[in-house]
Amino acid sequence: MAQVSVKNITKIFPGNVVAVQDVSLGVENKEFVVLVGPSGCGKSTTLRMIAGLEKATSGEIWIGNKMVNDVPAKDRDIAMVFQNYALYPHMTAYENLSFALRLRKFPKAEIESRVNDAAEILGIKKLLNRRPRELSGGQRQRVAVGRAIVRKPQVFLFDEPLSNLDAKMRVQMRTELNKLHTRLQSTMIYVTHDQTEAMTMGNRIVVMKDGIIQQVADPITLYDKPVNKFVAGFIGSPPMNFINGKIIKQGDKFFFKEDGFKVKIVEDMYALISKYEGKAVVFGIRPEDIHDKLFVSSASPDNTIKAVVEIVEPMGAEIFLYINAGKSSFIARVGGHNKHEVNQDLDVVFDTSKAHFFDKDSEVIII
Ligand code: ATP
Repeated sequence: MAQVSVKNITKIFPGNVVAVQDVSLGVENKEFVVLVGPSGCGKSTTLRMIAGLEKATSGEIWIGNKMVNDVPAKDRDIAMVFQNYALYPHMTAYENLSFALRLRKFPKAEIESRVNDAAEILGIKKLLNRRPRELSGGQRQRVAVGRAIVRKPQVFLFDEPLSNLDAKMRVQMRTELNKLHTRLQSTMIYVTHDQTEAMTMGNRIVVMKDGIIQQVADPITLYDKPVNKFVAGFIGSPPMNFINGKIIKQGDKFFFKEDGFKVKIVEDMYALISKYEGKAVVFGIRPEDIHDKLFVSSASPDNTIKAVVEIVEPMGAEIFLYINAGKSSFIARVGGHNKHEVNQDLDVVFDTSKAHFFDKDSEVIII
């Protein structure tokens, strides 16, 4: 197994399309790193450059202790799993699994042993004689993963491998890929646009936007300490609420003021927020940090505002409340047994100790 590092890679496609801009990233041996971001952010292009399917316009790509920029894909000792499975339709699962090994003239016994091991790991032993069209989406994806496993590559690369599966199968395969990583102890780089997939699978997550890395961190750090408004809004579901307003000072207290309401800022944040006195900022608060006043003991006039419920979305264990206060709309995530109705007046309490503030112009985090 091996570490992977990319150093200042840029990819410019014809027509001056800058798909990836000055990306640097080190992936440790045995690490599971997820590249995540919205469509077009350059995550697939980054992966394809590591795979050797796309040539970097500039920068270096290292696998193990070798710079591989000029090494063809087939000689990079990586295996890639694609979204569309890319199985050969006329071959059985066994033949698909063994294809790369046969091509490399592996001895028959070795091929058999590797295919059987992979089939065992993935639970597809009984399906080996079937052709792809005789398999479900999930089974096809297992064969595609198996084809990577048999090669015992230094690095596994996954490009949105679960996108074509239904929601339930996606969750199941997510768990299986996690187990596979633990079992194989290999370096894996995984691309997805789905933040839940990223959060549940990666040791570390790389958030990209417009070809540029925004933040690299473990899932909890990304969630709790996003570096900017984009990361804060991208990670988490339902997403963080953003409310425009400004910082004001009354007496010796600082408040965040929207046109229709204000909340007091916790003292711990004064040192950083005082520089923004009188300035426009964005207040960020996660749905789980907004509560119905009835259910909290820490409510005070400083952190309670009057709101109206606009939509009630019962999810079972919890309810998403779409509420409106002042000129702002936001989502609160409350207990599944709370009783709420559309158009109901509601006193909501912000847990301001969990709030974030972003610079209005640069969108960089203040706190
Ligand atoms: P998605 O989730 O939609 O696959 P992505 O984040 O993986 O998106 P990329 O496929 O890496 O994004 O594409 C990044 C940018 O590069 C996009 O603007 C895309 O249109 C452009 N791009 C990708 N491949 C090519 C190509 N072969 N020629 C020209 N432009 C391309």
